[in-house]
Amino acid sequence: MALSLPVVLASNFNGTNKAYAKFAESKDSCRQCALFSSYQQVVQSEGNIENPTFMIVGEAPGADEVEQGRPFVGQAGQRLRQALRKHIDVFNVATTLISNVIPCRPENNKFPQNPHLVTHCRDDWLVPEVELVKPKILITLGGTPLRYLLGLDRITVNRGQWLPVQVGSLQLWAFPTYHPSYVIRCERSKQLDVVQEFENDFAQIASEYQSQMNQPIH
Ligand code: URA
Repeated sequence: MALSLPVVLASNFNGTNKAYAKFAESKDSCRQCALFSSYQQVVQSEGNIENPTFMIVGEAPGADEVEQGRPFVGQAGQRLRQALRKHIDVFNVATTLISNVIPCRPENNKFPQNPHLVTHCRDDWLVPEVELVKPKILITLGGTPLRYLLGLDRITVNRGQWLPVQVGSLQLWAFPTYHPSYVIRCERSKQLDVVQEFENDFAQIASEYQSQMNQPIH
């Protein structure tokens, strides 16, 4: 059973949240850089756009995501959703929004080396999305959102803990974990400690998020 969250497509958006509908429409029509031209599909976020407790941020869509117009539906997405399903009472359609640092699939999945391309996506789409939906908790997957959204590097040092962060005008708690693609590679190479840490991270978030949300952020 897949963890299925509503897709936020400007084209089928039901319009209950006008501000988000406008945002999604603008994102759909973004042609400001070369990224769109490769596959011509802006992959919108998926899930609760009204008041999510969690906003999960990955890197960029791949081929499956472009084909289906949904984030995290390929192999990495299935691995992510498998981890989330273990805590379905916590991570579900009512609580969670799934997004990416860049909404277009990079050519041949090669993440842009030019940081200006990425910061443009971040500043025009990701940060405004965070400000608009106001999640209580950001869960970042892997090094890319750690760097571009939280301004940190070294996933091995920063993952698995609550971090107070400022995103645009918003102060909130973040919890970085591994990217599920890396977890899949570790499963194949029998680096099972990484796999366990990934599972533990979601278990920790699920058991601690309520008290963490009430902690003051300085
Ligand atoms: N699919 C996504 O939508 N994002 C990723 O980072 C990987 C796969």
